[in-house]
Amino acid sequence: MEKNKIILRLCYIEFIIFAGVLAIMIFHFRKGFGKSFFTLMIIAMLAGCGVSLALKDYLKSMIQSSGFDVAGVHNKKALEKKLQQLQEADDTLDTGIMMFDLNNLKMINDTYGHEEGDVFIQTFASFLTRILTENSYLARFGGDEFLIIQKNTTWSQLEQMNIRLQTMIDEYNQTADHPLSYAVGYDISCKNHYYLIMDLLKTADQKMYQDKKYKKQQLASKQQYITQNGLAQSISSDSLKEKIFTILANANGTKQYAFLMTDISNFHLINDYWGYETGTKVLNFVLKRMELFQESLFVNRYHSDIFVAVIDTSGYETSEIKERIERHNAQITKEILQSYPINYFHLNTGIYYLKDINIPAEEIISHANIVRCIAKTKLSGVCEYTQDIAMREQHKADTIHSFKRALSQKEFKVYFQPKMHGKDQTLASAEALVRWQRDAGTIWYPDMFLPILEETGEIQALDYYVYEETFIWMNQRQKEGKRIVPISLNVSPVHFRDIQSFTEKVMNLIEKYEIEPHNLIFEITETTFIHNIEAVNAMIRFFHDKNIRISMDDFGSGYSSLNTLKDILFDEVKIDKRFLSDDLSENGKIVLQEIFHLLKRTKKFIVCEGVETKEMVDFLVGEGCDELQGYYYYKPMRQESFEQLLQKTF
Ligand code: C2E
Ligand code: CA
Ligand code: CA
Repeated sequence: MEKNKIILRLCYIEFIIFAGVLAIMIFHFRKGFGKSFFTLMIIAMLAGCGVSLALKDYLKSMIQSSGFDVAGVHNKKALEKKLQQLQEADDTLDTGIMMFDLNNLKMINDTYGHEEGDVFIQTFASFLTRILTENSYLARFGGDEFLIIQKNTTWSQLEQMNIRLQTMIDEYNQTADHPLSYAVGYDISCKNHYYLIMDLLKTADQKMYQDKKYKKQQLASKQQYITQNGLAQSISSDSLKEKIFTILANANGTKQYAFLMTDISNFHLINDYWGYETGTKVLNFVLKRMELFQESLFVNRYHSDIFVAVIDTSGYETSEIKERIERHNAQITKEILQSYPINYFHLNTGIYYLKDINIPAEEIISHANIVRCIAKTKLSGVCEYTQDIAMREQHKADTIHSFKRALSQKEFKVYFQPKMHGKDQTLASAEALVRWQRDAGTIWYPDMFLPILEETGEIQALDYYVYEETFIWMNQRQKEGKRIVPISLNVSPVHFRDIQSFTEKVMNLIEKYEIEPHNLIFEITETTFIHNIEAVNAMIRFFHDKNIRISMDDFGSGYSSLNTLKDILFDEVKIDKRFLSDDLSENGKIVLQEIFHLLKRTKKFIVCEGVETKEMVDFLVGEGCDELQGYYYYKPMRQESFEQLLQKTF
């Protein structure tokens, strides 16, 4: 560089010498000495002047271009000068700094050589230049580090610039030999966060470092992009996590964001009925329309028909956001129905408000996914992740994770609720009902955990546990010659997936504890029966062979038609407690009378549960109910209390 400047000075001297000699020649030429010799000399001097000037221009351009480096952007020296100017400026208000760190350069250099490394840097730099505006200043200040100084900018502009860069790079990576990835940190000097330029650089650098650290952790488990013909590219979980992290890690505290997860109801039916081509077009259309949502920072297809987005919700109330999304979804729906030959289209969106930066991205995705599923059950098709849902999820996680330990530590207790003879109101039998004795003396009722365990399938283990605990108790009493009454046991629907395994296990337990079959009744709900008629009937036949009775629980709560009554093999029908829920109306009584009549004629044993008043007892007994169960007599009670009752009523 210094050498260039010296040569430049020599050029000027050379030019002055040539010009001086030229002037002298012209002076003597006028005087008329040796014309041809002087003509030649003048031409030579003119050529010398020309070459000196050309060399000067070349060197000047060389000196100027040395402010740029191989990547074609400003170099470190130029950047330092620029920063010096900024430092000396009156203020740095509305100046933004974006720092970028290109990953894997060393690996490319080492593996493919420096030429390939240079191309790698140039490619990244070319993407960076594409996000610049007239207020940008881009420089490379380290081997793989770049910096943008953005004057008169806003937070949103920096955010948008980064998202644009990420989107271009995502697209490029789909076909690239050496995919690009980078870490970014940005901040802005604004009224709320006023920085001196050096501090601004420092915060951007810290954020970039944080981003780099996170992305490095992710790198190990990085998935490849999936390409599908004609269909909008889907984003991998890792890339999605990185995008969310980058936005949140760079957030300045005043901004608010929401993560959205949207799907199309019954999308497979569009594919099945209208063909994959239409399905693909619909997916691409939805993606493009979602991108047009004014507040969208980014939108991607996640997988199948599920889309993810981060929107900027700054300045909006949550109710407003929900309303805007509802309106937006309705608009997309309208346009789809107008543009494609589809008669039904519905979008479901789960909203998760990104309030806490410390929540890991995978949790954010999982929370949004939960509300997306709940959104399907809502008329509006939009559901927000609320405190209430968070608590439900927490409870669910607690149930799932503590179940196995609780089972092995016998935290589940079997309670018994007596059933009374209709004729003489004496104790006839009992139903075994499970309770979860939690720490600190709290008791969880079945509704709090059974639906969750049913979802995970673990209810099977719990049912066997309840059966075994009940049998152990019955066996003990048998041995002691104490009184035993028939016990009803509930059978959860999951057992009908594998009847053989269920019946085998149950029979083993019955044999092991020498339980007399006439002392057992299995209760299968009407809903289970309707959904598994064949399997339930097969199970009933099996138990009938063993002289074990089967009861249809919650009769009338589902949608079995009277027609099914003629084929059911149940011995007993347990009328659902909802028939007795309110005070018995005249119409209610008529319905019950007719049901009783029908059941009697088909020779079913009738049990009524949920009996709470004397009036109900009188009516049911009058109509010929065989057994009654309910708070009017007893609530479900602990084993010891039930033992006392058995003793007392003997
Ligand atoms: P279910 O089989 O219909 O059991 C009867 C439910 O009605 C019991 O609730 C009982 O406490 C309640 N009940 C009894 N009398 C009255 C009354 O007079 N009024 C009112 N309002 N309710 C009454 P619980 O114990 O909370 O059980 C709820 C459900 O959980 C049971 O409904 C049953 O489906 C299920 N369940 C309970 N234990 C087990 C079990 O060990 N295995 C399986 N698979 N399911 C069980
Ligand atoms: Ca029951
Ligand atoms: Ca019931």
